Amino acid sequence: MTGEGPHDPDLSRIPFNRTAIEGRELDYVQQSITGGHPGSGGEFSARAAAILADVTGAEEVLLTTSCTSALELSAMMLDVGPGDTVVVPSFTFTTTALAFARQGARLVFCDIEPTTLGLDPAHLATLLDDTVRAVVIVHYAGVACDVDGIRAVLRARPDISLVEDNAHGLLGTYHGEPLGSFGRFASQSFHETKNFVCGEGGALLLNESRDVDRARVLYDKGTNRRAFLLGQVDKYSWKDTGSSFGLADVLAAYLLGQLEKRDVIQRKRRAVHERYEQGLAPFADRLGFRLPVCPPDRESAYHMFYVLLPDRETRNHVLTSMRDAGVVATFHYVPLDSSDAGRTFAARPTECPVSEDVSGRLLRLPFFNDLTDADVDRVLGAFVSCLGAPTRA
Ligand SMILES: *Cc1c(COP(=O)(O)O)cnc(C)c1O
Repeated sequence: MTGEGPHDPDLSRIPFNRTAIEGRELDYVQQSITGGHPGSGGEFSARAAAILADVTGAEEVLLTTSCTSALELSAMMLDVGPGDTVVVPSFTFTTTALAFARQGARLVFCDIEPTTLGLDPAHLATLLDDTVRAVVIVHYAGVACDVDGIRAVLRARPDISLVEDNAHGLLGTYHGEPLGSFGRFASQSFHETKNFVCGEGGALLLNESRDVDRARVLYDKGTNRRAFLLGQVDKYSWKDTGSSFGLADVLAAYLLGQLEKRDVIQRKRRAVHERYEQGLAPFADRLGFRLPVCPPDRESAYHMFYVLLPDRETRNHVLTSMRDAGVVATFHYVPLDSSDAGRTFAARPTECPVSEDVSGRLLRLPFFNDLTDADVDRVLGAFVSCLGAPTRA
């Protein structure tokens, strides 16, 4: 196992992410091209959407060009606009918020809980005035946020729609129910950095049957083409607003190959996660870092592996030293409320101290399906030695 040269794993850099072919992806892509209909709405899209509907229980699944566009479609469906506000987590990706801001709504940034890093129901309860039309939740790293706590806060406000940005959460559960099944709308991402990939892609899960007909029109460039294809009308025409949201069937073909291997993929990711946890747990107290928490009433979707370091200075030091050692770790979200656009689109300033604190201390370790045990051990070794070494000379 010694060996030298460019293929020696000990000399190669460990990337943060690397996509892998898991099954029939390339075969399906070829079939999609040679079948002559690689645009949206083909056979592979139907098969991929059927799997997603099956695993989430959604009424209808629309494959989209991205998770961002799925969120944009949900914002259009909600008809939010000037005068309305939408509550979003401070600690999330930009498009969780952007999708609603571009419809003209103002944003209200809500803090996260320190355990799961999901939306904090106690803070949410203080933010709900008459302008709020929707609340968006994220299941950070694939661990469910406090869904019951959030539902309890919203119980008195049936006029507010819950939207799940489920980009991290596909196949995770909360009280045995699939993530993505709690919102009126839920979005998925198949970007190259997610558990299941097709380059760029996404899906909108519709969990209420009342939304299906209109969502299909908005999805299909504002036309009732879908009703026409189903034989429900004898010609199709322009009916409503909308856009070109459909994922190309050639990409859905790739996605289908991935989704068919969902059990294999999740098993691999779970194994990497557990090896990290077991390897790091003995050092956590002594070196002052915290491991991710998955409460016992939830199952993780194993989207990522992060640690929380004692302070920002230590995090930045470890990040740089690990990269110098050939291991690409990375930080994550900068609180949206502290960003230029976040300030521009906010309805009013809000306090999100946990988001601010976590953002400065969080470090993500390389995490992908085919990360080998040897590479996990090398990441662990680099992390422990970089953190154990003094931060200043
Ligand atoms: C990746 C991600 C998105 C954006 O997904 P795209 O498919 O790249 O548009 C949105 N929200 C969260 C939480 C994400 O992680």
